[in-house]
Amino acid sequence: MNYKSTRNSSVKVSAAQAIAQGISKDGGLFVPEQLPQYRYEDLTALKEMDYMGRAQKILSDFLTDFTQEEIRESVQSAYAPEKFGGDNPAPLTLLQNNDKNMYLMELWHGPTCAFKDMALQLLPHLLTKSLKKTYADKTAVILVATSGDTGKAALEGFKDVDGTKILVFYPEDGVSPMQKRQMNTQEGGNVSVCAIEGNFDDAQTGVKKIFTDPQTASLLEQNNMLFSSANSINWGRLLPQIVYYFSAYCDLMNTGEIDYEGEKVNIVVPTGNFGNILAAYYAKEMGLPVNKLICASNSNNVLTDFIRTGTYDKNRSFYTTISPSMDILVSSNLERLLYHLTGGDDQKVSLWMKQLSETGAYTVDEAVKESVQNLFYSGCCDDQGTKQTIKMMYDTENYLCDTHTAVAVNVYHQYVEETGNREIPAIVASTASPYKFAASVLDALTDEQAAADEFAMVEELSAVSGTMIPEPIAQLKEKKLRFDQVCSASGMKDVVLRMLAIQ
Ligand SMILES: *Cc1c(COP(=O)(O)O)cnc(C)c1O
Repeated sequence: MNYKSTRNSSVKVSAAQAIAQGISKDGGLFVPEQLPQYRYEDLTALKEMDYMGRAQKILSDFLTDFTQEEIRESVQSAYAPEKFGGDNPAPLTLLQNNDKNMYLMELWHGPTCAFKDMALQLLPHLLTKSLKKTYADKTAVILVATSGDTGKAALEGFKDVDGTKILVFYPEDGVSPMQKRQMNTQEGGNVSVCAIEGNFDDAQTGVKKIFTDPQTASLLEQNNMLFSSANSINWGRLLPQIVYYFSAYCDLMNTGEIDYEGEKVNIVVPTGNFGNILAAYYAKEMGLPVNKLICASNSNNVLTDFIRTGTYDKNRSFYTTISPSMDILVSSNLERLLYHLTGGDDQKVSLWMKQLSETGAYTVDEAVKESVQNLFYSGCCDDQGTKQTIKMMYDTENYLCDTHTAVAVNVYHQYVEETGNREIPAIVASTASPYKFAASVLDALTDEQAAADEFAMVEELSAVSGTMIPEPIAQLKEKKLRFDQVCSASGMKDVVLRMLAIQ
């Protein structure tokens, strides 16, 4: 299977090259040329397998230039039971009352307690194998812009992986104290972390600029290095995410919840960069029976408006919310959806992306708008709604959800309210452990003044909820701080060159 660029359909690369390169030279994103199709028989075969087996099957269909052995080795090290607390890294939770037919797919049992682990534990394996196939002996320099969770998950995935160096930029005031501590205490000889004065979009724009800067590229070339990306623009990040939607559906087949051929589910995703929900879209296009893809945003509701109006407009206030991993105004992966929905019209996509970067807005044509609305339902909720949902889930279901997951649950409830439809089972992506956002979750649960210290809050949350503190968070308290550097958005390039010692 080959991959094309969203901005130039004549570009054709192998999976290994798409993963090694991260982004196309024309600034476009790599998309698969066609999608493997799964029929009912394929799903019934898949449901007999464990998670690793399902991953093996789906990955093989996309990574046709990898051997079965390479894929097996990657999948088995990525999803080893000791890393994800058991055999199923993406278990579905059955709620007690569940009057709205909702299944929370918990994607946060990995080493950093957020769903990014699902992809970032696998990506380093895929990337190092891809590099061997395409750019033998080069060191991959991974630059990451993060709104919090990607950074830590990437650091954890890439730490001490031979042939790689990783540098993470995060917005100084745009991540939770726990996220900051997770990153600034990161261990490993090939890792580096730097805060920037600005928000996530500044960090992401800065990274994209460095990526496409010819001068930096030639400096790297001279030093036998090349840039690669662990952001969700990398195909190797998206692919592992397709797996869990299939896996959740199979689990529902196995429990009898799905009991006839072609029975549909709704999929609800708390959305930021549009990566996780795009993976759900791919699953649907591959034949997974999906009714609606429900796109949930926080107060940064660019996507809600886009899906409802067909106009993407980032010219609006940026809000720092209690669901920081969704504080994004430019959702990069939307470009891939537009490419598919225009039937692969690279000219149109290039034009819209140009308009976005020059004026901050673009409007898709009527046909694309209609397809978007057929596929997606969109909604948003502010911090107050998020907290109310956390409290409601705790009170009615005895379930503790994090701030991002709460946004999804809130928007799903809006969907049920608006459509009256509660018969279709809904798979809700639960994207982070509540302990990662202890202050906000506690604040939602109790009226009392929260403890000042992040770790005291974690303990309080455990006491209030009667749930266990995840091991990676409990251990964090003892870790030494290693990074405290802050730079301006314009100073990012210098930080990169200094870290690589190639200035
Ligand atoms: C990254 C993240 C999201 C948003 O996912 P996208 O793929 O960027 O849309 C939602 N919740 C959490 C906890 C995250 O870390």
